Amino acid sequence: MDLFLHYLRMPYLLDGVGYTLLITVLGLLGGLVMGVVLAAMQLSRFRTLAIMARAYSIIFRGTPLILQMVFCYNALPMIGIKLSAITAAGLALALNEAPFIAEILRSNVIGVDRGQVSAGQALGMTPAAIMRRVIAPQAIRSMVPALGNESVSALKNSSLASVVAVQELTLRSTQLASATFDFFSIFFASGLMYLVLTGAIAVIQIVVEMLLDLDRPPPKEQLARFLRALLPGRGTPAPLAPVTPPDVAAEILDEIATDPLPPPSPRSGPIDRAARARRLAGNNAAVEVKQLRKSYGSQNVLDGIDLTVRAGEIVALLGPSGSGKSTLLRCINRLEGWQDGTIRVGGRFLGSDEDGRPLSPRVTAQMRASVGVGMVFQQFNLFGHLTARENIAGPLRWVQGLSRLDADRRAQELLDRVGLAHRADALPRHLSGGQQQRVAIARAVAPGPAVLLLDEPTSALDPELVGEVLEVIRRLAVEEGLAMIISTHQLRFAGEVADRIVFLAEGTVIEQGPAEQILRAPSHPLTARFLSTMNAE
Ligand code: ADP
Ligand code: MG
Repeated sequence: MDLFLHYLRMPYLLDGVGYTLLITVLGLLGGLVMGVVLAAMQLSRFRTLAIMARAYSIIFRGTPLILQMVFCYNALPMIGIKLSAITAAGLALALNEAPFIAEILRSNVIGVDRGQVSAGQALGMTPAAIMRRVIAPQAIRSMVPALGNESVSALKNSSLASVVAVQELTLRSTQLASATFDFFSIFFASGLMYLVLTGAIAVIQIVVEMLLDLDRPPPKEQLARFLRALLPGRGTPAPLAPVTPPDVAAEILDEIATDPLPPPSPRSGPIDRAARARRLAGNNAAVEVKQLRKSYGSQNVLDGIDLTVRAGEIVALLGPSGSGKSTLLRCINRLEGWQDGTIRVGGRFLGSDEDGRPLSPRVTAQMRASVGVGMVFQQFNLFGHLTARENIAGPLRWVQGLSRLDADRRAQELLDRVGLAHRADALPRHLSGGQQQRVAIARAVAPGPAVLLLDEPTSALDPELVGEVLEVIRRLAVEEGLAMIISTHQLRFAGEVADRIVFLAEGTVIEQGPAEQILRAPSHPLTARFLSTMNAE
């Protein structure tokens, strides 16, 4: 035992620990930097970069680390790169870690829901902004456990540096053991040293996971809990029944309480349809779709669509599932490309230059923001790591360049309008579907778009939550005066709110006209059949 303690304190072994740590840190930091580059290359639009990164991964993942260490120390000097043993070992470890770390990064980036990316694009965020503000913060949270694993394995792999005579812990232990023949005590001591190091990594991992946990209570409350746990009430037994934490209780109460919308503005009186139609007819075209054709492989999804929507006009897009409604909406704000035809939004070709050549994703994003086209998705697609307020204020700062103060003020004002001022600090997952969609609508109208696209905004909601979302849209329609294209299955709503109904089937416009006329007396049998099926439900 004494011997064991003696070895634990022995400077010769402790120096070895120092070298082990140094190689591990070099390997991990270098691996992280190279891993980020490799992952970015594989995720890039440029195939050559992706192929180069893949080739690197195959080579460095597929050969033993021990050979790579020997290569860095013994072969690199032949081409004039002479490295110290420690640098060579650190470099080899970094080269070897890079493809593993790159795969961890890549899988977590790919794992972020595509809807989050679509929402960022629709808000006019550039690819770099989406990566920085939306994907990275969500991916980092989920990659911590895998990176913890990788750190432990790098630490253990550092022992292979003994092959190039780096005086790290394993080499020093074996040297000491062969000199003293005291194998048991020495290896037990060095094993314990490795355990302390890997234990430290585990602790760091737990702390990082805790810090990144969005559901974690604020630091003050955490400290109070910690102190309570340290100093249990003198003699008073802890209550046996589980106590509902106050924030959860508040949330349940919030869910039960209906959040009343503020009273409608005086402008929202009954609509004089004829006068409105005359006024709209004189407005400029907000969206102009001409002979739009789009296919996925051999399947024609949009087959020569013509559609003009005037400024301020509200168009309901009806049609059976699979008729191409979502695709049409996604083409209008250029979330999708197409094969033939043109689309103008606010008079401009969104995403292509005057000759029809596609623009880069960055320029397209800027154009989306400047023509002012917002989108509301069926699955809400709120940014999961941001509060309701930040979902609205964030894009206003990143895209429109508002100051934090102005963005927060605008967000609060919009939350108030959709009846959710009291839930401003809630994360999306703590909101009901209806509340999430109302925040999503507020987010889409925050920058004051000229056109709002709504893709089945109530289809993912429980029936009792549909009304609150429709009411918010109805008010927007009346109060904002923006052009809206709403794909929906809510016939009554379409009849009340839309100026015009466009009926789509199999990628073509079958019939269109004033809402009330289409709903009451459709002229095409397909429309009539669709309407009667919907009414029968
Ligand atoms: P709707 O919104 O009217 O239900 P969609 O626009 O979503 O219809 O889809 C129209 C057709 O296009 C469907 O047949 C669907 O399977 C197909 N489709 C949509 N998106 C894709 C895609 N990314 N890849 C292949 N096919 C797709
Ligand atoms: Mg759809």
